[in-house]
Amino acid sequence: MTAEVFYDDDADLSIIADRKVAVLGYGSQGHAHALSLRDSGVDVRVGLQEGSKSRPKAEEEGLTVATPAEAAAWADVIMVLVPDTVQAELYKKDIEPNLNPGDVLMFGHGFNIRYGLITPPAGVDVAMVAPKGPGHVVRRQFVDGKGVPCLIAVEQDATGTAQRVALSYARAIGGTRAGVLKTTFTEETETDLFGEQAVLCGGVAELIRAGFDTLVEAGYSPEAAYFECLHELKLIVDMVNEGGLSNMWYSVSDTAEYGGVTRGPRIVNDGTRAEMRRILDEIQSGAFAKEWVAESKTYDNFDKLRAEQREHKIEEVGSKLRDMMPWVKRTITETA
Ligand code: NAD
Ligand code: MG
Ligand code: MG
Ligand code: MG
Ligand code: MG
Ligand code: MG
Repeated sequence: MTAEVFYDDDADLSIIADRKVAVLGYGSQGHAHALSLRDSGVDVRVGLQEGSKSRPKAEEEGLTVATPAEAAAWADVIMVLVPDTVQAELYKKDIEPNLNPGDVLMFGHGFNIRYGLITPPAGVDVAMVAPKGPGHVVRRQFVDGKGVPCLIAVEQDATGTAQRVALSYARAIGGTRAGVLKTTFTEETETDLFGEQAVLCGGVAELIRAGFDTLVEAGYSPEAAYFECLHELKLIVDMVNEGGLSNMWYSVSDTAEYGGVTRGPRIVNDGTRAEMRRILDEIQSGAFAKEWVAESKTYDNFDKLRAEQREHKIEEVGSKLRDMMPWVKRTITETA
């Protein structure tokens, strides 16, 4: 099953430029979408609660800010970019009462639709434009004349034009410069959760920590362990990103390649693969969604886990070492 891919020529920018677009939320994704839509000539309003810390940031950029309810009432395209766990409540209170037949309700991730936390009325289009990168990269690439690839999906097509609107929106934030893949809410949600849990965020963080701990516990310096297990990862990932795993194996020494192909499968082994399958099962069954929605009411366990991540030795030594390496760009967490 090969996905359909769309580029600039497949998307008509004038469609979204003729609509009124509310971007609800001005965080990682929200700021990137709102600013790039505006720069693409789209009439956009940002929806934020009174007193929200994001308000002054959006206003400083010259964007028009309203409450989420006002922005939703004004708009005919509503992009929901508040955290996944607050979307259902925001939807009930501020969006649903302001939806008209023919409006397009859009998401940057399929979580709330996939798990039935939001059920839009029949006359409304439901679509997704999900950039496959952090919001700050989405914005930076757009400004640089490039783009981050996006996924689009249509869950409900009341007007028969939902896909064309979504493609036009994706073009306005730079997505079609890089390529936009067609998917479904179910596929996007399940693969996105799996990727971030098993590989990109959870898997990588734990691999880094375990490698670092192993070296430090064996008596090597934390500085050397930091360089080997964290710092160099970027160089490796860049090679993988540019030319696949083969490109990386080609570039590293034969010693690294032989050691890697013989030892790697001992780290990610049959047990790891079986655990990946269990993680996927929890995503597909809705068990993870249920757990996360319940945890988001208090953050009790999550706060402890966050503190434990922050207080790990690798963060302390890393912070000192990065201060000595001004060429290491601090664009996302430290300057955002
Ligand atoms: P974020 O946490 O960075 O920002 C959330 C924004 O929503 C903030 O401006 C906050 O003030 C606002 N907000 C919070 N509660 C609100 C409420 N009750 N009413 C109105 N505004 C409220 O969020 P994010 O990481 O950009 O995620 C937004 C969506 O984009 C999610 O669906 C997420 O899964 C998806 N997504 C995020 C990324 C990413 O790079 N972070 C990538 C792809 C998709
Ligand atoms: Mg409206
Ligand atoms: Mg993802
Ligand atoms: Mg995600
Ligand atoms: Mg080395
Ligand atoms: Mg080689």
